[in-house]
Amino acid sequence: MTASASNDPALWRGLLPWPGADTHKHQRGRLGVVSGGRLNTGAARLAARAGLRVGAGLVRILCPPDAGPVIAAAVEAVMVSDFETPEALADLAGPLDCVVIGPAAGLTEATERNLAAVAGTEAALVVDADALTLFKGRAGDLFAMLDDRDVMTPHEGEFERLFPGLLAEGREAAAVEAARASGATVVLKGRETVIAGPDGRVRVNRNGTPWLATAGSGDVLAGLIGGLIVQGMEPFEAASAAVWMHADAGGRFGPGLIAEDLPEQIPAVLADLR
Ligand code: AMP
Ligand code: MG
Repeated sequence: MTASASNDPALWRGLLPWPGADTHKHQRGRLGVVSGGRLNTGAARLAARAGLRVGAGLVRILCPPDAGPVIAAAVEAVMVSDFETPEALADLAGPLDCVVIGPAAGLTEATERNLAAVAGTEAALVVDADALTLFKGRAGDLFAMLDDRDVMTPHEGEFERLFPGLLAEGREAAAVEAARASGATVVLKGRETVIAGPDGRVRVNRNGTPWLATAGSGDVLAGLIGGLIVQGMEPFEAASAAVWMHADAGGRFGPGLIAEDLPEQIPAVLADLR
């Protein structure tokens, strides 16, 4: 296999969404992030903040009732809605342009029902973390819920659970095959992150930094991808841009980075891309 394109900003810089003079917030897109329960809300808050920083007009965290007060006390610009049932979650997700699901969601039947509920709406999906791991040994059940508007963001462990043995073909070939098999865009995360579209497109991101290897880092990336999708970027381009920006943000902050720092670097990343 020939070496694929590096994920150079020249490939997508012209596609980045900049608000026009008359833009209102609804035109800048509506992002949802599904939270885990009371003790597992940080991942959703990180993703939500990343989505806002990258320009989503509205971000709403969707959470179980017990988590609502915890989240509401810890966010300002992010809206919070709670839901008791998958049907209620679908009603909340329906008006949104994209929903991030999986970070700290829990390896439970409830997470699977919530994923199915959101997948049944018009919102595009960014599927990460527990919403991937849940499908160990039965990846077909996950792929049946996805289409080419959706993005999966596995690290290598999550990837191996969905595609046992495939990494032996090399990371790039594995991601291409995973995207073809799932019908969604696949972001295979790591030191080098491979972005593969279901149509066979592939890019390898090489501006990463080991400072990104910290808890919550991937949750921020999921929020960045969702935040660009809601602004109208197609999933492969949104994923490409988000992965590069996430890495650039990490490099800018450098030593001592924690995931909370990443969204706060995004304004400078965007300003330099403009
Ligand atoms: P997660 O494991 O879901 O928290 O995601 C970790 C994020 O950090 C992904 O975007 C990885 O690509 C990135 N990352 C982790 N380790 C490294 C590394 N050594 N070099 C560059 N990026 C990394
Ligand atoms: Mg993760």
